[in-house]
Amino acid sequence: MGQHSILPPSSAHIWRYCSGWVQLAQDNPQGETEDTLRGNAIHEIRHLLIDAGMHGGLGPVLRVGDVATNGTVINDEMFECGELAAQIFLKEWQARICGGGAKYGIEHQVQCPGIHPDNYGTPDGWLWAPNDNTLIIDDCKGGHVHVDAHENWQEIDYSSGIVDYLGLTDPNIAVWMRLVQPFSYHSDGPVRTWKTTLGALQRKYWPELSVAAHEAMGPNAQCRTGHQCRRCHVRHVCTAALQCGMELYETTMFPVQSKLPPPALGLQMKIVDRAMEQLKALKTGYEEQVKATIKGGARVPGWCLQPTASREKWQKSQQEVVLMGQLFDVDLKKDDLITPNHARKAGIPDDILAVYSGRTTGLELKPESTDKVRMIFNKEHNNVD
Ligand code: SF4
Repeated sequence: MGQHSILPPSSAHIWRYCSGWVQLAQDNPQGETEDTLRGNAIHEIRHLLIDAGMHGGLGPVLRVGDVATNGTVINDEMFECGELAAQIFLKEWQARICGGGAKYGIEHQVQCPGIHPDNYGTPDGWLWAPNDNTLIIDDCKGGHVHVDAHENWQEIDYSSGIVDYLGLTDPNIAVWMRLVQPFSYHSDGPVRTWKTTLGALQRKYWPELSVAAHEAMGPNAQCRTGHQCRRCHVRHVCTAALQCGMELYETTMFPVQSKLPPPALGLQMKIVDRAMEQLKALKTGYEEQVKATIKGGARVPGWCLQPTASREKWQKSQQEVVLMGQLFDVDLKKDDLITPNHARKAGIPDDILAVYSGRTTGLELKPESTDKVRMIFNKEHNNVD
């Protein structure tokens, strides 16, 4: 068994709808990213705090400024998230463990054969309280993108494995799926719970997920675009998503309420600011690739290179320009040198200006229209000026 399931519960919200994702994800494995490192560090904080909390505060914990196992330095935000998730779990554990017979799992891997033989994963935490006939499943999210607790497919997937592990069958068992996400503003707050029953999972949710899992692992898997594309790491190689073009990019826009209270407004501004920076970086990277591709002679549909000329500038030293102006009885220096264009208006002849000034030229990436430069590079036309 590998470290990661081919049908990871964390991506169940994708493959339950887009079965083609599984193969694309296998062909394009996602390496560690800043977000995954950060997420793993938060989980380590949470895990250690829970362990310590269960042992009277004894045991190692990670604090702000410490370094997590994966090398990530813990900052305030990470600690706050891990600490909140640990507190929520410990509070529940302390309240229900007294009832007797309670069982729990922290980062305990479970198999989910009821969904598919290749489906397994590691829930952040769960607590089975038989006296209350209640199973609580916890998931901690450190990201800013809002995640719904209601019908959360990752937790639905985990619930199958946990129930299987515990051997539960009573359809009346209450199943609570709880999300702790401090950095996504929501009117329901940072801790959100979806309350369902084992019967509903057995009748509706698990069969639906199982059908999707079998489709994903079979010959008829299909890529289907939708809201899930916005967080899909293989969208750059997904034909279905690329064909969607603008539609895909629109899915990256999250609906935001028009009137937000100040804390939410501040958070939204931070998110937009960060998103703009990331988009700028993405755009710059793509621009360079597109330019290099076109210069290399290949066509990039919808884009072309057009020559650009910068503003006319002096090409000689200030002293030479001033002396030249004196020959024509024109004072070219006020506080600083006047521009070549102003010099022209002041009476310096064009042929003289051509010697003393000039424009630097370059190639600018433009949406395709009068793409003479592309034709030059592609040798598509012999009569290009
Ligand atoms: S980009 Fe969208 S359609 Fe393509 S694999 Fe990902 S989720 Fe599926």
